[in-house]
Amino acid sequence: MMNCRRATRLMSESKERPLSATERMALRVHTMMCSACRRFDGQLDFLSQAAQRYKSKPNPDDEPKA
Ligand SMILES: [Zn+2]
Repeated sequence: MMNCRRATRLMSESKERPLSATERMALRVHTMMCSACRRFDGQLDFLSQAAQRYKSKPNPDDEPKA
């Protein structure tokens, strides 16, 4: 089984490039058995969505204050 370091690295990379079938399989097996990495993947999704929202706003300083 791959270690957590490799698993989290693959999760990050999967946001930037398609993983190979072997990588996806190994990652899937790891996250099935490792709750820490499942949590990490959830956080990564949250962060990448937040980053997407941020990027879609060219100048966040122009936003009206609530
Ligand atoms: Zn892990």
